[in-house]
Amino acid sequence: MSDNPFARLERYRPESADDGVNPPISDSATFAFPKASLLKGAFQDDAPGCYLYSRAGNATTQLLAGALAALEGTEAALATASGMGAIATTLMQLAGAGGEIIASRTIYGGTWALLANLLPRFGIETVFVDTNDTEAVRAAVTDATAAIYCETLSNPVLRAPDIPALARVADAADAALVVDNTFAPGLVEPRRLGADIVVHSLTKFINGASDGVAGAVCAGEAFIASLSDVNDGTAMLLGPVLDPLRAQSVYKNLGTLGVRMQRHGANARFLADRLEEAGLAPVYPGLASHPDHERFTGWLTPGYGHGGMLTLDAGSEEAAGDLAERMQAAGVGFLAVSLGYHRTLFSPSGSSTSSEIPADVQAASGLTPGLIRFSVGLDADIQATWERLAGCLAGAGLL
Ligand code: PLP
Repeated sequence: MSDNPFARLERYRPESADDGVNPPISDSATFAFPKASLLKGAFQDDAPGCYLYSRAGNATTQLLAGALAALEGTEAALATASGMGAIATTLMQLAGAGGEIIASRTIYGGTWALLANLLPRFGIETVFVDTNDTEAVRAAVTDATAAIYCETLSNPVLRAPDIPALARVADAADAALVVDNTFAPGLVEPRRLGADIVVHSLTKFINGASDGVAGAVCAGEAFIASLSDVNDGTAMLLGPVLDPLRAQSVYKNLGTLGVRMQRHGANARFLADRLEEAGLAPVYPGLASHPDHERFTGWLTPGYGHGGMLTLDAGSEEAAGDLAERMQAAGVGFLAVSLGYHRTLFSPSGSSTSSEIPADVQAASGLTPGLIRFSVGLDADIQATWERLAGCLAGAGLL
C-alpha cells in the first residue's frame, strides 16, 4: 500500500453522519450537554468525545485537521483562520518572554514582520540567519532558543534548507524545528525529515481556489492539544480558529490536491525549461541549475514534480512592473499576490509580499528588486502560455 501523502489523504475516511459523499457541516458555535457534570468536565479536559464550543473544537474543522495530519504524517493538526494564525499561535505557544527564535532571513514578509516587529513587544526576540548555512544556525543557538523556523522552499527565493541537519541542531538545543510547508504540500514531508511542527497557509495550493483564507498547524497530539488549552492555549485565547463553513470547503478541495500539484509542477517545469533555453535565468528547484536541486529532489514524493513556484529577474523594479503588466494584458495570468490558484499569479516580491524585509536583508538573500515570483497555473495549453509569455518578454526587451 502506497504511503505517499496523497494516498494517505485518499484513505482518510472518517465516519459520516449521513450518506453524502461530502461531509455535513457542523454549523454550531456551542453544544448542549445532558449533564452539568459533563460540562464541568469539558473545562477540565475530561469530556472525551464531547464538543463544547467551536473555538475549542468543532467536528468539521477537526475533520479538515485530521485530513491535514494525514497529509503531513503527524499525529494531529489544528485548522486556523489563516496561515499567519497558524504561525503566530505556534511560535507564541513555543516561546514566552525571554525566549528566542532562530528564523530564516528569507521567509514570507508577514512572518518576517511578526518576528521582527510584533513578537519583540511580547519579549520574544528573533535572530535571522541564512538557514541554508546550518553552521550559522548552530552558532545562533543560545540557552533561550525555543524554536528554529524556516520554509521548505523559501518565499520568494526558493532555497531549500537542509531540514534533517536543522532538526539535529534543534534537537541538540532542546528547541522545536518549525517548517512552513506552504509551497510544497504533499511534495515534501518535513515531519519525515525531522521537523517537529509543520505549518501551512491553506489559502494557497491546499485550497487552490483563492476564495478563502485559512491555515493549519500539524504536530504531535500534545502540542496540538496545548494550543486549545482553556488556560493558556494561543489558539484558544487569541482565537484565530477556522470557521466550519470554510473548513468544509477547504476539505472538499483536498481531493484534487495531488493532481493539481502534479499539473502545477509539470507546467512550471515546462516554463522554466523554455525560459532557460531562451537564455534567461529562471530559478526553479526542478532545474539542475538550482543550487538545492539535488537535495530537494531527494525529498520529493515520486511522480508529483517540483512544485508550481518559479522566479525570474526582470532586472529592476520598474522592468518587473512593466513585464507583469504586459503579462496580465496578454492573458498569461494575474498580477496578484498569493499562489496556488488555477490561473498563473505573478508579483514583484521585493515591493509586495516581501516589502516588510529591509532592503539590505533582501539584497543579502538574493531577493533582487526585479525578481518576479510566479505561481504557475493549471493551464491546459502551456505551450500557448509560453508563446504569450515569450511575446511579453520580447516586448519588454528581455528576449
Ligand atoms: N506562509 C507563506 C509561505 C506564505 O506565502 C504566506 C502568505 O503569503 C503565509 C504563510 C501566510 O498565509 P495567510 O495569508 O493564509 O495568512
